[in-house]
Amino acid sequence: MVVDSCLDRESRQPIALKYLTELGIDVATSVKLFVITHWHDDHLKGAADILSACRDAKFVCSEALRSTEFIQFVRICSTRSFMVSSGVDEFDRIFEKLQRRSTGERPESVGPDLWAIADRRLLYLPKNNRSFNVEVFALSPSDTAMTLALSEIGQLLPRAGTPKRRAVAQRPNHVSVALWIIVGNLNILLGSDLENHRDKRLGWRAVVLSPNRPRGRAFVVKVPHHGSSNAYYHKMWSEMTTPEAAALLTPFASGKRPLPSQDDVEKIRSHTSQIYCTGRPQGWRPPRRDSTVDKTVREIARTRRVVHGPMGQVRLRLSAQRGLDDPTIELFGEAQHLT
Ligand SMILES: [Zn+2]
Repeated sequence: MVVDSCLDRESRQPIALKYLTELGIDVATSVKLFVITHWHDDHLKGAADILSACRDAKFVCSEALRSTEFIQFVRICSTRSFMVSSGVDEFDRIFEKLQRRSTGERPESVGPDLWAIADRRLLYLPKNNRSFNVEVFALSPSDTAMTLALSEIGQLLPRAGTPKRRAVAQRPNHVSVALWIIVGNLNILLGSDLENHRDKRLGWRAVVLSPNRPRGRAFVVKVPHHGSSNAYYHKMWSEMTTPEAAALLTPFASGKRPLPSQDDVEKIRSHTSQIYCTGRPQGWRPPRRDSTVDKTVREIARTRRVVHGPMGQVRLRLSAQRGLDDPTIELFGEAQHLT
């Protein structure tokens, strides 16, 4: 299974393809599911290439993108008559690939194999004599998130006589697909970029409150939305994860407010000390220098940030031979255990 995509800095290949191929895995037949959690650039680059390489994989994206408005929107943006925004180009390429592998006769039937919505099972592989049963569930978007998304995407369409607006979907994070993976008797929670919302029918509150979500606690958590406090919901941790779960974090370096901040990490730390980050959190304060140097820097630069090398990698592996409850965690490049 592949979830989201980004490119390797040097080869410009999708990292997931590179990784699986180097392990000797035939991606064409072995990858069963490819999920795009939401349509932000940092989760999408190279997605169309993954789709063509993994030809047996079912393609999944958020049900909120189902509306004809969204499909129309991708088409309008791809004709370049409209200001292009994050992710639209890549989605256009994805549609092209889907079109090519479609067996249906009607062009309107081209689309993802599965639309993700809260509590839908996306994959089920029964146990065979060498392995464990595997199940994958979507935990979001909620039905209310869907309703809102459909009306928002409709508003993005350009209309005659009105000025062109930059095509920014207001909150793709609210319709982002969080995933629950069951392997044998272990659970893994991939938090995507799903955020909190005051409305309990949306975001993490909706997930935790859902009577239909799969039960149990996750021992591995991909921390939602780069560790941001707007995606921190204490009940997600206290009700859906085991104490001292392995928390995997991806910092977000660009943008005005790099994620996570030190405070964000402290919140997570109240649930687990096992926090692994694929890079140094860039929002953290630069080291103190000589006071005159600091003063001069303050005079010429409004904000300062510590600059580090390319993204590292956190690898968590489970061995079927050794028993699934004993994961090995390895860190590469700038990745680190946040102690
Ligand atoms: Zn993101």
